[in-house]
Amino acid sequence: MEKSKKVIIIGAGQAGLSVSYYLTQFKIPHLILEKGSIGNSWKNGRWDSFCLVTPNWTINLPGKPYAGEDKFGFMKRDDFVKYLKDWAESFCAPIKENVEVKNISGKPGLFKITTNVGTYISENVVIATATYQKPRMPYFINNLPKNINFFHAETYKNPQQIKSKSVLVIGSGQTGCQIVDDLLRANLNIYFSVSSNGRLPRTYRGKDCIEWQNEMLMLDRTPDMLEKSSDRFKGDPHLSGRDGGKTLSLHDFRRKGVKLIGKVLGINGFVLKIGRNVESSIKFSDSFALDFYKKIDDHIDKKNINAPLPSEQDYFGFKDEGDDPIIEIDKLDLQKKNISTIILATGFSFDFNWVNFPILDDFGYPITKNGETEIKGIYFCGLNWMNKRKSGIIWGVGEDAKIVSNSLYKNLQKMYA
Ligand SMILES: Cc1cc2nc3c(=O)[nH]c(=O)nc-3n(C[C@H](O)[C@H](O)[C@H](O)COP(=O)(O)OP(=O)(O)OC[C@H]3O[C@@H](n4cnc5c(N)ncnc54)[C@H](O)[C@@H]3O)c2cc1C
Repeated sequence: MEKSKKVIIIGAGQAGLSVSYYLTQFKIPHLILEKGSIGNSWKNGRWDSFCLVTPNWTINLPGKPYAGEDKFGFMKRDDFVKYLKDWAESFCAPIKENVEVKNISGKPGLFKITTNVGTYISENVVIATATYQKPRMPYFINNLPKNINFFHAETYKNPQQIKSKSVLVIGSGQTGCQIVDDLLRANLNIYFSVSSNGRLPRTYRGKDCIEWQNEMLMLDRTPDMLEKSSDRFKGDPHLSGRDGGKTLSLHDFRRKGVKLIGKVLGINGFVLKIGRNVESSIKFSDSFALDFYKKIDDHIDKKNINAPLPSEQDYFGFKDEGDDPIIEIDKLDLQKKNISTIILATGFSFDFNWVNFPILDDFGYPITKNGETEIKGIYFCGLNWMNKRKSGIIWGVGEDAKIVSNSLYKNLQKMYA
């Protein structure tokens, strides 16, 4: 049994490290348990060419806001992992790596944290294991013939993993589109199974879309402003930080030879049953983009902002006159099309069942108020939409970590008063 701790933080990503930064400022002894190493999700869960989608100015981690010369650029995966490591080193974050937490039980003041290397006791626990914890696998995948190789986007690294000439990517969220963009550089025959996801223009009327979102307070929206609470788990729109940042568009993919097909509805041997939703999915992303343009135009008018008029480049991503007509198909025969590899860009899900307290809502998502739960001493940080839209991204995590650390500090003061 390990010595007991005042605070244990689970996870050494940006959220866990941000809390550790503030606890260090408060001189509160604590320990971070991390199942891999610092920035594990970025390092092992993203592909080789991955670049942040959010610009460098959004890297405002406590004690280490971005100070480089490329404020409007997009950091590469390995550079961001190094950034996190350097930051952790700068304030001597106390981390035990390769320790996976399997279960949290006990009672306030005496939490029992069971791990792969033994048990820890702690008065407080901050769970900073993110919303994107495990790959979401579609139900039909187990019916695939044995000689069809499939893997989730989480383990996609680069096009060299594809041993066949043709590949199928299932899932057209932000990740699926970025992977297709990566595969396009490898001269592969790409089939892309799409559904309805939004698209954002990288820039519009002189600014990056994230800058506009921030200026229009879209990143400060709170969960109660959502139509449905399930909207907290919606996928992110098509967008990329690669090549200096760019708009990704289904129309453009088609022009580059990607074969768009509808949703995979079922499998019979080598034959996939396909939905007829290509046209509606394309329409959805177009109208999402148009809605965003309108929001910006209205904002510019309302605030009387001196912004340039939309340029042709701003409207990249829409249908061109010469585009081929969309053809919907009902079936895709993997064997006939020489597809022996499938990449599942079907999203990520969360699982907090290892936290043995009644603190989850009907979705299995933690119920928190400023990161605190009903169980005194159990906190969360880094969850999507925990306090605001930006809670689960780099830009917002520092703000939440400060709130969580402040309340931990106050509670500890009361405990020891
Ligand atoms: C594909 C993808 C791209 C993204 N791109 C961007 C982007 O460009 N910009 C942006 O701002 N946000 C982006 N995000 C959102 C968000 O910033 C990241 O998900 C980020 O990793 C969240 O940071 P975190 O610290 O909350 O969680 P994580 O970085 O996931 O850190 C959690 C840590 O906890 C560890 N852990 C998990 N379970 C356990 C356990 N049981 N025991 C011990 N350790 C455990 C993990 O190994 C991990 O290191 C992206 C998300 C995804 C999925």
